[in-house]
Amino acid sequence: MKPVIALVGRPNVGKSTLFNRLTGTRDAIVADYAGLTRDRHYGDGKVSGHEFIVIDTGGFEPDSDAGIFQEMAKQTRQAVAESDAVIFVVDVRAGLSAQDHDIARYLRTVGKRVLLAANKAEGMKDAPQLAEFHELGIGEPIAISSAHGQGVRSLVELALQDF
Ligand code: GDP
Ligand code: MG
Repeated sequence: MKPVIALVGRPNVGKSTLFNRLTGTRDAIVADYAGLTRDRHYGDGKVSGHEFIVIDTGGFEPDSDAGIFQEMAKQTRQAVAESDAVIFVVDVRAGLSAQDHDIARYLRTVGKRVLLAANKAEGMKDAPQLAEFHELGIGEPIAISSAHGQGVRSLVELALQDF
């Protein structure tokens, strides 16, 4: 069995962009506006010889706002339950949000390896903007750029350590 990595985080942080980067496909739809990924949630990933399955989250059929938030929470729980490791994606350019705190609070209870990926960090290595994400209690934020591929390989290597 290949190890399974779940990508979780609030809308628009770059989960689907990371999914595409990890799977080498464009299966996950990268939205120009917050939150839309449809249908394709599972992909085969391969990074420096490691093979794994990656789950994108955030695909939902929007009926109402309340429905969207419930559906997001459900997808997140399902993906986490199916995974061996979780990559929690935050947006270093947008900064910390209340939703990040809510997700972090949940992830601290799941008893799985959770990596904190500070995305959109191209050209921002060791930037002061990373510091506030320590507050989430998920550990050291790892600067990545899903769009440019920076930091992605070492993030996956950390996620898959011991698998
Ligand atoms: P999701 O809702 O979390 O799946 O986010 P998406 O992958 O759909 O991306 C949301 C927006 O952020 C899109 O406009 C992406 O092009 C942009 N984005 C994703 N990753 C990066 C990145 O590494 N750097 C920058 N600057 N923008 C990014
Ligand atoms: Mg998405």
